[in-house]
Amino acid sequence: MPHILIGLASCQEANVSAPVVRALLAAGHEVRIAWFGSTAEFEQAVALGLPDADTVIAGDFDDDSRLLQACEFLNDEWLQCPIVLSTGYDVFAVALAETAHERCAKVIRLGAGERVGDVRDAKRRRADHAADAFCVSTDTQRQQLLNEGFPEERIAVVGSLVAQVLAEMPEAPTPIAPFVWLALEHTQTTEFHGDELLVHCEEASGNCGLKLHQANPSIPATQQITSARSASVIVTDSVGYQELAAAAGIPCIVLAPAGARWDLLIDGAVQVVDRAIELRQAIPQAFERQASAVESEATIDAAKNVLQAIATWTEVSDATTEASPGTLPTEANATGRTFDDSELRLLNAALRSGTLNSTRGTFVSRFESEFAEWLGSRHAIACASGSAAVHCAIAAVGLAAGDEVITTPITDMGALTPIFYEGAVPVFADVDPETLNVTAETIKAQLTERTKAIIVTHLFGRPCDLQPIMTLAAERGIPVIEDSAQAFGATYASSEHAPVTAIGTIGKIGCFSLQQGKHITTGEGGIVCTDDDDAARRMFLFVNKAWGYGDKNPDHYFPALNYRLTELQGAVACAQLPKLDEVVAHRRMIAADLHSRLSHLPGIVCPGDPSNGTHSYWKFAFRVDAKVIEGGAVALGSRMRAEGIACAPRYVVKPAFECQLFREWRNSPVSLMPLQNNPRGQREGALFDRADYPGSVQGLEQVVVLPINERYRPHHVETVANAIVKAHGALSSV
Ligand SMILES: *Cc1c(COP(=O)(O)O)cnc(C)c1O
Repeated sequence: MPHILIGLASCQEANVSAPVVRALLAAGHEVRIAWFGSTAEFEQAVALGLPDADTVIAGDFDDDSRLLQACEFLNDEWLQCPIVLSTGYDVFAVALAETAHERCAKVIRLGAGERVGDVRDAKRRRADHAADAFCVSTDTQRQQLLNEGFPEERIAVVGSLVAQVLAEMPEAPTPIAPFVWLALEHTQTTEFHGDELLVHCEEASGNCGLKLHQANPSIPATQQITSARSASVIVTDSVGYQELAAAAGIPCIVLAPAGARWDLLIDGAVQVVDRAIELRQAIPQAFERQASAVESEATIDAAKNVLQAIATWTEVSDATTEASPGTLPTEANATGRTFDDSELRLLNAALRSGTLNSTRGTFVSRFESEFAEWLGSRHAIACASGSAAVHCAIAAVGLAAGDEVITTPITDMGALTPIFYEGAVPVFADVDPETLNVTAETIKAQLTERTKAIIVTHLFGRPCDLQPIMTLAAERGIPVIEDSAQAFGATYASSEHAPVTAIGTIGKIGCFSLQQGKHITTGEGGIVCTDDDDAARRMFLFVNKAWGYGDKNPDHYFPALNYRLTELQGAVACAQLPKLDEVVAHRRMIAADLHSRLSHLPGIVCPGDPSNGTHSYWKFAFRVDAKVIEGGAVALGSRMRAEGIACAPRYVVKPAFECQLFREWRNSPVSLMPLQNNPRGQREGALFDRADYPGSVQGLEQVVVLPINERYRPHHVETVANAIVKAHGALSSV
């Protein structure tokens, strides 16, 4: 059951909220109430039937600081609710919605679409426009929202909640003498002010044998409502009383400057007078007119209708695009990605703020702190790409010309070129052919006294066996950088009984990519994480041209680039992050499903969790034994493709050191300079020889990389698995 936060601005809103809160509690929802009014008002609301929920009273505000205080009040803990119901039309409703949206909560307006024609309509409209979905009392209000461009599927006509309050309250006692109920909330500054109004009202009432009772704000609201509902005529400038009169079937006269609710006006439930003197005629006319209470099924079940609407709106997936039948969801477009309203909303907020660079904006820094918290690291610094993230990490280590950085030959080139750019030489460690990950042994084989950093890449999301690597590195005092671009949400424990830690927090620095195809994405983007204050400082400087922002005598301290993420990307990142855990969980389920469908096939070895960690399945990379399956990975892959299943047999095909940039390293000063400062530069021929990398060669030869994503449904998995089974059958000699 989702938690629901309900934001109430004043006692009047308790009218509409009380039955909803009661219904929500009865349906087993956890409800919290944020009350933006005084304790006295709150007590009145309780008297109106607002039940005892987890309530915080935000206190009396003076007007100027209201918004600020309201925003401060809506702190993180309180806004963990995924659904926020907002009422009222004041700054609170807007502040509540905006703060909720920053938390990616959905905002549903109760009593939306109320347009009266007075000065407060602008505020009502603003409050409505800040929300995502709308509960209205009447068709007229629904039409109003449609006219203003609200999406039809997000508007529910629920009926009158005030009518429901009345229905649930004890009957009003029959008065000793019939009376007119005069309820003024806003008229002080108008021509109706003061004696003239009272005189006409009193005389007109007396003329038809009615007494005049005036509402008194210091009387508890229940008592006022109880009194008002036995009135013969209600004269008011309040929108709330208009609905009450309509719901109770009492003729109602509205004092013009306040404005009549036009749906009630059209229905004939209320009548408007422009000047106090007109009351002399209007009151007797109203007294003669028998209004009738609006008491349809819909009005009485209004609270239940609200619940129904909430259920509908929160059930529907916001994901905009489904893969068309017969095709698979792909990370290349919306079918395989998790974008929905939350990204749009934050993008909107970023654009509306007008600040799109992170040095002044708020979204990138918010993403940084939320990502650090998600990962469990002390610092996180966002940057332009995964390549930039690796570059930051290498720069933070502090290398000298010709130093060596040990890394893997099976990775994204973006993780390798930054080594050259920082004046160092990439030195490749072989990989375990079964996991395609580097190991302590393969790293050890490449250590020299020039080794100044080790980059481990958790390929496809499978954690490297870090414990022996960390021990080896610690013995030599060499920092370890975890390239976790493919391993969001993967975990590792150094032994069976050791605590489980997030991949990316075990080495000195963890790097992540937010490129289009990664677990979460901003198109391009990256983030680096560390617990080390000095490294964090260096990486912060490195994304900012090494300019000492905030320092006493700032300068550009060392060569560095502008590697900043924009606020637009930051906004998308903030919306993507809350989805990450589910994305990982979903990918793990898909992998488990594929595993159960494929692992029995002779000659195929499916990926799985290492004994002391969890795989987060950026891709599903399985191994193919060419002794059992004719033509091995390449033949199986091409048959899969013929079945319409995208895949990458042999992944990057060749070890990185066979790429042109390594073969022709003399052609660029970027690779030339480091090698001129390292004895490897004096070698004849290639820098690295595939004969020294049997694990990498064999690993690449055997692997088929199957793209999967969190939008796969069981039938997609079935399609993929069936195609593999079929391809396997055609090639299998067993
Ligand atoms: C994607 C990736 C990178 C580079 O990230 P970009 O955002 O594309 O620059 C680096 N390392 C690994 C392992 C990756 O998968």
